[in-house]
Amino acid sequence: MSDPLSQRPTRIRVDLGAIGHNLDAIRAHTGRPVMGIVKANAYGHGLVPVARHLEARGVEQLGVAFVEEGIALRRAGIRVPILVMGGIFGRQAPEFIAHELEITVSSIDKLRQVEAAAEQLGRPATVHLKIDTGMERIGVHSYSAAPFIEAALASRWCRIKGIYSHLACADDPGHPMTARQLERFLEACAHFERLGAPMPLRHLANSGGVLHFPETWLDLVRPGIALYGVLPDPASRPALPLRPALALHSRVVYFKVVRAGASVSYGASWHAATDTRVVTIPIGYGDGWPRALSSRGEVLVRGIRRPIVGRICMDQFMVDLGPQGTAYNEDEVVLIGTQGGESIRVEAVAKAAGTIPYEILTGLNERIPREYTGGEPAMAG
Ligand SMILES: *Cc1c(COP(=O)(O)O)cnc(C)c1O
Repeated sequence: MSDPLSQRPTRIRVDLGAIGHNLDAIRAHTGRPVMGIVKANAYGHGLVPVARHLEARGVEQLGVAFVEEGIALRRAGIRVPILVMGGIFGRQAPEFIAHELEITVSSIDKLRQVEAAAEQLGRPATVHLKIDTGMERIGVHSYSAAPFIEAALASRWCRIKGIYSHLACADDPGHPMTARQLERFLEACAHFERLGAPMPLRHLANSGGVLHFPETWLDLVRPGIALYGVLPDPASRPALPLRPALALHSRVVYFKVVRAGASVSYGASWHAATDTRVVTIPIGYGDGWPRALSSRGEVLVRGIRRPIVGRICMDQFMVDLGPQGTAYNEDEVVLIGTQGGESIRVEAVAKAAGTIPYEILTGLNERIPREYTGGEPAMAG
């Protein structure tokens, strides 16, 4: 609480050692080079510190969604190759090339725009061709891949480093969609052979692919959520040991006795059945702690699971300790993580909020200070 950046008792604690461990576990499991996905503030863990740690641990490549995320990494001195996976606007192409960011080319039109920018700068662009095998998001349909690949091969200014697609259902180990997508993807890749051109890096596997579908690993894997020690689907049984990297802590800021029948918080939606002890925790939906947890989630206080009661407010929420429960001002409260022998995983928080862990993690915003442990001492911060 002496952090000069903030007087808040609320903290995200990121264990960089856990992220390094997960990287090693994914490498050992797949035997493939890894593109560590650090988009959306590294899934809430902090873009630059996570990227620095992954670089120090020898990750082959990083992946982000938007050009500004890639530029932020370059400005922070990150040197490893970075692929920007989102769709690009033609006018952004010079920014990519100037910052040595690899470009996702997802149509012949965009290929032409990148080519024109590269020619004008007199510097080649490094591109990955995006094939749509079933997401119907960005990318050229696999059944239209031939002219796309021919155009890319004919380009004088685009260096084709990779070809990739994205899996829609890989979080479900039994889903038939994944095999279909793999087949379509390999058919598209086969045009390189047909044309006698060298095969670029073929990549397809997100975390679900890494965990459940070895045939999708190909030449490079692209795990995001698994790097952070979180499962893409709570039902999946991981074939490798992953350690959650993020904990979310706060402290009790107020204690009161609520009389039987009194209501707690906005909307008076929760009523005390008996006289009970209620504490207030100073974090709310304005920090990204979802309002959907109103009267649904749990937190750890003094090593015991306690229910959230009433609506989550913007900056605070209330927890029922029961008629006999105790807690004192400044007692640590764990929202995600471990306390005593108990732990609350982000997967459980997501379930209570009716969403997926991705949304909980990426929603935790900049209002919450982040603390890092387990990094190399030379790279503090
Ligand atoms: C986000 C993303 C990933 C990583 O997905 P996870 O499910 O977090 O592993 C991989 N590839 C692409 C194209 C993505 O957008």
